[in-house]
Amino acid sequence: MNGEVSLLRPAASNPATSPALTDLLKAAVAQKREAVLVLLHAAVAELGDQHQITFANSMGAEDMVLTDLILREQLPIEIFSLDTGRLPTETYDLIADVERTYNTRLKLFFPQPTPVENYVRTHGINAFYESVDLRKACCHMRKVEPLRRALDGKKAWITGMRAQQSATRAELPLRQFDEGNGLEKFNPLSDWTEQEVWAYIRIYQVPYNKLHDQFYPSIGCAPCTRAVAMGEDIRAGRWWWENPDSKECGLHVKS
Ligand code: SF4
Repeated sequence: MNGEVSLLRPAASNPATSPALTDLLKAAVAQKREAVLVLLHAAVAELGDQHQITFANSMGAEDMVLTDLILREQLPIEIFSLDTGRLPTETYDLIADVERTYNTRLKLFFPQPTPVENYVRTHGINAFYESVDLRKACCHMRKVEPLRRALDGKKAWITGMRAQQSATRAELPLRQFDEGNGLEKFNPLSDWTEQEVWAYIRIYQVPYNKLHDQFYPSIGCAPCTRAVAMGEDIRAGRWWWENPDSKECGLHVKS
């Protein structure tokens, strides 16, 4: 399936294909980086500095920007990732790369084994392709439930979501109350463009997922992610067999 689009590329899916680092672009990134820092420092001052704020790191390009910023600036913000058990090899390689680069250990949350075993025995190993309900059930046990454990006891969480990523994120605020999980939620990169994300990665030489070099602008679980073609929505490669309006995994439910 990926072969159909492999010769086409999205506008700025990796450092090699992103536009030149002009002074204008560098200035925009510097300004937005400063704005993110101001937001995060204010969040820490308001909500506590004892790692009561946690960052959900999906290891995507945007999240690499936030990972770099938090670790480089030594902000007292916890970083965690969800290991669904179905991630691409390249994502595991990136986790190891980040740990080496920043001399840190990422906090991983795994799904509970019993629901996964029951689901697979009942529906099959790749049942998520069969219906939206089965796909959402898989996302629930592999992502939503571990996320709840990751957020337990926290006052706020941070995501790397951007408004431009999809129709479901068009009105994304910098800060919102996450009613589903009962805590504050910050989206510091909400107003960043894809170009600015990749410019940051180039300027600061941040590690990134090598699948981005193969035209995967948005990366999730291996069986539910594919490359996209020029002009396609950057989230078009996620759950590509579903209607765009249903393409969220349940981690980011609108209030
Ligand atoms: S993205 Fe796919 S494999 Fe991953 S949890 Fe959701 S349905 Fe399951």
